[in-house]
Amino acid sequence: MYDTLRFFTQSCADLLDEYFESEIIKAHLAGSSIIGTALGPRSPGTAYVLLHHYMGGIDGAVGAWGFARGGMGAVTQALAASLTASGGTVRSSATVEQVLVRGGRAAGVVLADGEEIHAPVVVSNLDVRRTFLETVAPQHLPPEFLAQVRRFKIRGSSGKLNIALDGLPHFPAIPQGSPCTRGDLHVTDTIDMLERAYDDWKEGRWSRAPYIDMLIPTQIDPTMAPHGKHYMSVFVQYCPYQLADGGWTDARRQAFGDTVIETIARHSPNFKDLILHAEIRTPRELESEVGLTEGNIFQGELTFDQLLFNRPIPGYAQYRAPLRGLYMCGSSTHPGGGVMGAPGANAAGAILADLRRKA
Ligand SMILES: Cc1cc2nc3c(=O)[nH]c(=O)nc-3n(C[C@H](O)[C@H](O)[C@H](O)COP(=O)(O)OP(=O)(O)OC[C@H]3O[C@@H](n4cnc5c(N)ncnc54)[C@H](O)[C@@H]3O)c2cc1C
Repeated sequence: MYDTLRFFTQSCADLLDEYFESEIIKAHLAGSSIIGTALGPRSPGTAYVLLHHYMGGIDGAVGAWGFARGGMGAVTQALAASLTASGGTVRSSATVEQVLVRGGRAAGVVLADGEEIHAPVVVSNLDVRRTFLETVAPQHLPPEFLAQVRRFKIRGSSGKLNIALDGLPHFPAIPQGSPCTRGDLHVTDTIDMLERAYDDWKEGRWSRAPYIDMLIPTQIDPTMAPHGKHYMSVFVQYCPYQLADGGWTDARRQAFGDTVIETIARHSPNFKDLILHAEIRTPRELESEVGLTEGNIFQGELTFDQLLFNRPIPGYAQYRAPLRGLYMCGSSTHPGGGVMGAPGANAAGAILADLRRKA
């Protein structure tokens, strides 16, 4: 028990020092302690973020991550197909503007085009800030609850590049034809380098030497690109939501992307020549396109004050809102972000329990 609790307050750097001597191994593992996180590897609490990324597994392989055939969209397509097969309906491009409240309980939603959808139970997977500050009228919520929602930390710190490649890049550090290129590729030398990357974020600029976590999934699933072409997914830490010297512009977004591309090119001489197209995304686009407040990929930071019985808000960790009939099921709730379905499964358990009690 003591050992588990230690993760929530310890820094990843301290934890790794207890187990490893090699700087490279420590730097490699430390990457998972900062992903999506507005903390550096020397910040208390990052040991938990590392654990968060290694929890679970695939087909019995503990800590393993999987590729979805056809790309990540295949996961939501499968969920939608399952719901449809059970008689449900999926409505996309349907922004919820307001939760309808009748007789002191949630009674449905109002969409941006004015359409009303009535329902005895409303379940929100919008992040907790959007749910309670943007879609529920404040008079229906206790003021102290709203104050806590406003304090919920949801700072964006990650960027993303989706790159179409004319062929497979060569990395001289990896032997040609090695299976190593089929997994996760990082550009990191030391924990200090990651900490300096974090210093840039604190000062309101993207990391000049960023942490890069890249994958070329077309090596595993060639259906994702035309024959002979490849797709590279590049996750970048750190990139701020607010820049210290003014707002984001197209030119600044391009400069951020160029920083990432130059960093990769230093390790792959033919990389730049292979680029057919690069889609560059900062926390601004993650907010405006994906609907994530401040571009935080976990719908809220994974710090101890917002984890376990504190997530999202102390006293409201059981998926129920302080408005009857309204539930939360997104990553703002326990156990947090990641494609794992756990918040949804737990929320379903709470809703079914309430329905049974009512019946
Ligand atoms: C760049 C990036 C990389 C990631 N990498 C990984 C990874 O490698 N592995 C992993 O496991 N996880 C990863 N994640 C995290 C993972 O994608 C999320 O934790 C997961 O998608 C959360 O699912 P969710 O259903 O809780 O919420 P979300 O996927 O955030 O869904 C919330 C939905 O609500 C919609 N919405 C918002 N406002 C409204 C409104 N008013 N009306 C209607 N709809 C609205 C949004 O558009 C969105 O579709 C990554 C996330 C990002 C952004």
